Amino acid sequence: MTESIRRIVLASRPSGAPTPSNFRLEEATMPDLPDGQVLLETIYLSLDPYMRGRMSDAKSYADPIPIGEVMVGATVSRIKQSRHRDWRQGDIVVAYSGWQTHAISDGSDLRRIDPAVAPISTGLGVLGMTGFTAYAGLRNIGRPKPGETVVVAAASGAVGSVVGQIARIQGARAVGIAGGADKCSFVRNELGFDAAIDHHDPDFARLLAEACPDGTDVYFENVGGAVWDAVRPLLNNFARIPLCGMISHYNDGAAGKSTVDRLPASMKVIQQRSITVRGFMNVEFIDQQPAFLEQAAGWIADGRLKYREDIVDGLENAPSAFIGLLEGKNFGKLIVKVSGEQYSRPMPAS
Ligand code: NDP
Repeated sequence: MTESIRRIVLASRPSGAPTPSNFRLEEATMPDLPDGQVLLETIYLSLDPYMRGRMSDAKSYADPIPIGEVMVGATVSRIKQSRHRDWRQGDIVVAYSGWQTHAISDGSDLRRIDPAVAPISTGLGVLGMTGFTAYAGLRNIGRPKPGETVVVAAASGAVGSVVGQIARIQGARAVGIAGGADKCSFVRNELGFDAAIDHHDPDFARLLAEACPDGTDVYFENVGGAVWDAVRPLLNNFARIPLCGMISHYNDGAAGKSTVDRLPASMKVIQQRSITVRGFMNVEFIDQQPAFLEQAAGWIADGRLKYREDIVDGLENAPSAFIGLLEGKNFGKLIVKVSGEQYSRPMPAS
């Protein structure tokens, strides 16, 4: 029997929040493997906020996904078959296979991961793109000093959870902002932030101000919108803002929700308090990735860097999980388990 591929393609472009009808599950025939290439079997698929931008045809830093094409995304994959001299069957790699069960690669976009270091799913989160984003934004832009206050938006999530923990490792105070009591309890009690404030609380702005008695020296921006409104008055002179993302605006657009004009208030505070706002893409700092991976693996091993993964079972559930990500329904790094994990962490020697 010929094996087939299952894949999720972009069926139509969303107007505002994505809906299930924007996606389509398809089956296709397994392609033949050309010389010099490898056949990848997806074990885990990463779901990330940037995918919302790729579903739209608005001009951006990356090309839109064409209608009918496979949704893009990073994966942890197993090399099922190799006709490439540098890659062996059975290797576990981080790849960019997209929302599908199998893909072919020439090897240039693969990064080998060592299943002995941590569970392989971490190659998409704490030891992957999101963990590195946190490290790069804080190291190059936030640059917290011991005793300073670092406020982190979306603090229970993939990027934010790592930002606050690294800030604490560096001797700063970490104040997280998250949606709901469970996420705040996790941020405070499991991740060890100094405080965690619920942005759904009607008293959010006052509670955040109370948690920052010395103001805010670094604000790691992941969200924008009402969260930015509450942080803005707390910013100290010479505060630094790594502008990583603005997820609360990703579903805005022609038919999306109307937006408040925050420009004058934002520019005023930036100018009058000599604040540095620096947008960034993690790839700018990619030469720092090996140093990050080494350091982060050490922090995980000694218990200073904790992580939480929200693993959804089955490729067919990727669209609803992704829609939920943009509504705050995920709790930790959102990952889809696409096929059985063939390589789990080896048992420690007794
Ligand atoms: P998360 O794991 O943090 O998941 C997204 C979280 O955002 C949700 O769980 C929710 O948390 C919060 N959220 C969603 N909608 C809203 C809203 N309307 N208002 C307030 N909070 C909201 O995602 P990531 O860690 O992967 O991404 C975090 C940010 O980092 C995103 O903006 C993303 O685009 C950006 N990013 C940027 C990169 C770069 O290179 N610049 C690379 C990777 C990510 P809660 O329930 O707590 O509100």
